[in-house]
Amino acid sequence: MKRGAEEAQLPPLPTAASGLAACRCAGAFFGTAEADALIRTCCILNRMRGLKGKRVLITGGASGIGAATAGRFLEEGSAVCVLDRDVKAREQIQKQLTGLAGTLVADVSDLKQVQSAFAEAVRLMGGVDVLINNAGISIRHNFLDITAAEWDKVIAVNLTGVFYVAQAAARHMWERGSGVILQTASTNGVMGYPYYADYNATKAGVIELTRSMALELAPKVRVCAVAPGYVLTPMQRAEYSDAMLDEVNGKIPLRRHAGPEEIAALFAFLASDDAAYLTGHVYTADGGETAGGLASR
Ligand code: NAD
Repeated sequence: MKRGAEEAQLPPLPTAASGLAACRCAGAFFGTAEADALIRTCCILNRMRGLKGKRVLITGGASGIGAATAGRFLEEGSAVCVLDRDVKAREQIQKQLTGLAGTLVADVSDLKQVQSAFAEAVRLMGGVDVLINNAGISIRHNFLDITAAEWDKVIAVNLTGVFYVAQAAARHMWERGSGVILQTASTNGVMGYPYYADYNATKAGVIELTRSMALELAPKVRVCAVAPGYVLTPMQRAEYSDAMLDEVNGKIPLRRHAGPEEIAALFAFLASDDAAYLTGHVYTADGGETAGGLASR
């Protein structure tokens, strides 16, 4: 499609004030002709087919990758509900993303809480078209020291919790005849990494769960996994000294961590109509980290 034709289908040019809510990069030019032009360009570039009006539920959506994904879907014109167990982070995201359709407090490892939060998301948005099944935790520890309680906790959130939310969404979408479920795995689910054996096992589990769900739920519901490599979330940055950050960046062919908004962009694409033929696979976003084993380091 020619750029002119694409622009003709756009909604009216937003005002600088309303556009800024959707386009943070125009901030430096606020109130100028340059700002209007930049906002309009961003509206074109941000546009993913079929996301406007979609109803999206994001678990672990109050922080990091989930929060960036909530912001991205709002920019695309979707209705977004965030589910998180962290009450404080939930209050913050509510202030940060004022367009959210709802913020729900629930622990994904508790089946009853998942069922009632999912029902509340359906009530608030009138249905759920897209699930971003993203909540997860990790604990850095030696394999020899992992306690039974730690093992159970990581499995409960990262695998059982993903299953609980996925099944609630799949039942809802199956009945309605369509939907998209996207689950956050990790490169740790594809390769071995020291000090995260329990976490790695859960992420490998998420990948197999994704593949199996995709086969059973086709052709109505698409199911994919996203496997990020190193993502520089604020919490992750706080754990690094500058030297540690440089060392990890040096192992990545693109020489940097991903920004959470880059993982959000992959979720937006996979949920869009442009990805209508994609199901049952894992999409890696790791700056080339796992492309060549030792050769890529
Ligand atoms: P984060 O800690 O910033 O965000 C995770 C969110 O999930 C938090 O808001 C937390 O409160 C929520 N959460 C945790 N346990 C929960 C539970 N039981 N019920 C409901 N909510 C819960 O972390 P992040 O880096 O944004 O991670 C998001 C996902 O991405 C996780 O699944 C993680 O394993 C995965 N991942 C992260 C990276 C990375 O480098 N940051 C890399 C690969 C995969």
